Amino acid sequence: MKRVLSAIQPTGDMHYGNYFGAVKNWVDLQDKYECVYGVVDYHAMTMPYNPKKLRENTWDVIFNLLAVGVNVENLFIQSLVPEHTELNWILSCFSSYGQLTRMTQFKDKSAQNKAGEESFISSGLLSYPILQAADILIYKADFVPVGKDQQQHLELTRNIAQRFNNQMGKEYFVLPEILFTETPKIMSTADPMKKMSKSAGEKHSISLFADEKVIMKRIKSAVTDTGEKTDTMSPGIANLFMLLKASNKMDIHTSLMDDYNNNALKYVDLKEAVAQTLIELSTQFKAKKAEFLTNKKDIKNQIKYSSSQIRKIAQETIKEVKELTGLGNVRF
Ligand code: ADP
Repeated sequence: MKRVLSAIQPTGDMHYGNYFGAVKNWVDLQDKYECVYGVVDYHAMTMPYNPKKLRENTWDVIFNLLAVGVNVENLFIQSLVPEHTELNWILSCFSSYGQLTRMTQFKDKSAQNKAGEESFISSGLLSYPILQAADILIYKADFVPVGKDQQQHLELTRNIAQRFNNQMGKEYFVLPEILFTETPKIMSTADPMKKMSKSAGEKHSISLFADEKVIMKRIKSAVTDTGEKTDTMSPGIANLFMLLKASNKMDIHTSLMDDYNNNALKYVDLKEAVAQTLIELSTQFKAKKAEFLTNKKDIKNQIKYSSSQIRKIAQETIKEVKELTGLGNVRF
């Protein structure tokens, strides 16, 4: 059976960009493939952070993922599988420094830190795509379901794997393929030129567990267009239609799209439809999460167990990689 790997950072609330861009696919792929999904807490250290909050967020994301339908046995916490960091070091010796400096996420996030109070840019922020490569390659994953923003990092992962394979003279690492949903880039409703993101500030994302009032406010105040008539659909309107499509509300999507094509679309109707759709989804997610939270201790133990099971795959890979690369192993 082909293997799927993906991961999410525990850096705050999960939002509809995460869900429609990646996590919805995680859930759907579980029937077809062997799936391994990580909450990647080592990654969350690359930006200034609070240790207590990091641990809280890690568990919170676990419960969020369970609430949206990820199976408990497919989940692991990255720092419970320390082999990821061991492979990270090894792969860093097969990674190009120049290529890392060209990563758009590094450019964006370092600019954000520079503008912040401490103006500190950790070297982890530069090198974390290597850790991401290790996350994927350690499981020899065939497919990686992620959003469009991760395309460049996945390309880097393939480059690293290829360089490693070439130097070792063996097709050892599988070159992973990216899997997109039909909506791989959800935009911020407050600024539809930017992707929806938790790191860009509160108004730039809508939590999957948001209150009805917050969803209403975000959607009602969504930027639509500047009022000027153009031939192409404005990014704000396109984003609202995309949210309907991602939610499988195709009947209403088609009917409102007809209105749009006939110059008869009332933005208030589109916004109302999107708001109601997201409220419906969030109501389901919140109820599921509350259910899982009544069983907190038991679920935490299950996650520790699933992490230890998943770790066995990582340990096997590290053993083989050490053998290949001339590092110490049992025969040393
Ligand atoms: P964030 O970018 O909000 O910090 P993560 O980096 O933890 O979130 O991303 C988790 C997953 O969600 C990744 O697969 C990423 O590609 C996807 N994702 C994040 N934001 C969006 C978005 N606006 N649209 C589509 N997918 C997204």
